[in-house]
Amino acid sequence: MPTKKTSTSSKVAKKAPTKKVAMSKVSSKKVAIKKVSNKNDDGLPLSVVIRKRIEAENARFHANDNIAAYIKPGELERLVEEVAEKMQAVLESLVIDTQNDHNTQNTSRRVAKMYVQEVFNGRYVEQPALTKFPNVSRLNELMIIGPITVRSACSHHLCPIMGRIWIGVLPSKESALIGLSKYSRLTEWVMCRPQIQEEAVVELADMLERKIKPIGVAVVMDADHFCMQWRGVKDRDSKMINSVMRGAFLKDSNLRREFLALIDRK
Ligand SMILES: [Zn+2]
Repeated sequence: MPTKKTSTSSKVAKKAPTKKVAMSKVSSKKVAIKKVSNKNDDGLPLSVVIRKRIEAENARFHANDNIAAYIKPGELERLVEEVAEKMQAVLESLVIDTQNDHNTQNTSRRVAKMYVQEVFNGRYVEQPALTKFPNVSRLNELMIIGPITVRSACSHHLCPIMGRIWIGVLPSKESALIGLSKYSRLTEWVMCRPQIQEEAVVELADMLERKIKPIGVAVVMDADHFCMQWRGVKDRDSKMINSVMRGAFLKDSNLRREFLALIDRK
């Protein structure tokens, strides 16, 4: 299917410069196709098609799961269209006059793009590539990376979570090390999903353990939850601090103390 589409559009592009009238005809046709394209041939919304692929493999698709393996090239743009349509229905149910209120005319599409392409993008794209380096100098000293900026949202209300993360790694002589910027990329990938802070830090620690195979790994996250500041108790100063200690960080209280003393959470 996708290959067929590409070949049609390349034909259109080749034809375009020769006939101006034909061009405008084609482009209006294209818009019409785009409007219904978030439904599949059998009339199913794209989200249902993707969901069926996931269910066929008995995989999980919770808010904080990555489902990139079930999405084909070109489908994310179509998913934005579907989300925009449903977001428009939400605005209508909120009795907002999106036709006459110029501020909300395109809100549904903006929100759809923001969810799929930005703030929840970590659900839909593959894990960033990690270059691994062998531990040639056989480093086995404590490494601390941070603070890494965290932008996430709670799974309960989709309210922003803004915070910082520090990662401590005690590599073994056999560990594969990853470049410093990769810690930020991995963190962003995990956090750009609707999350629960307690689960997010565990997920990040698990992933780092699998990738680096260190003697110990520690993750500390310190965040503002708009869930408590914007709504609910409206407590502007409440924060949540979580830590996960694995391996040497769990067993060796001196190492743990050194890590906690070195990160500057002020
Ligand atoms: Zn919440």
